[in-house]
Amino acid sequence: MKIEIDLMECPFCGRKAELIECSGGWLVCCYYSDPLNALEDSEGVCPVGPETILTLKDAAIRIWNRRAYTPQTPKKERNE
Ligand SMILES: [Zn+2]
Repeated sequence: MKIEIDLMECPFCGRKAELIECSGGWLVCCYYSDPLNALEDSEGVCPVGPETILTLKDAAIRIWNRRAYTPQTPKKERNE
């Protein structure tokens, strides 16, 4: 089961991330870490393929979004 939600882009390739419900909880990963999905994009597979798994959906999204920040992200948007 896949859900559209407001996730930050992958911090490594800058493309979209996805949230997937799995047996261990909630997985957030780079959409292009899956070779099948990577066929859709000329850049191909994500070079890093980061992923975050947590039992709580909110936590998984929060942790992913925090990791997706770059040093260029304005501090006021970090909500820390
Ligand atoms: Zn990526």
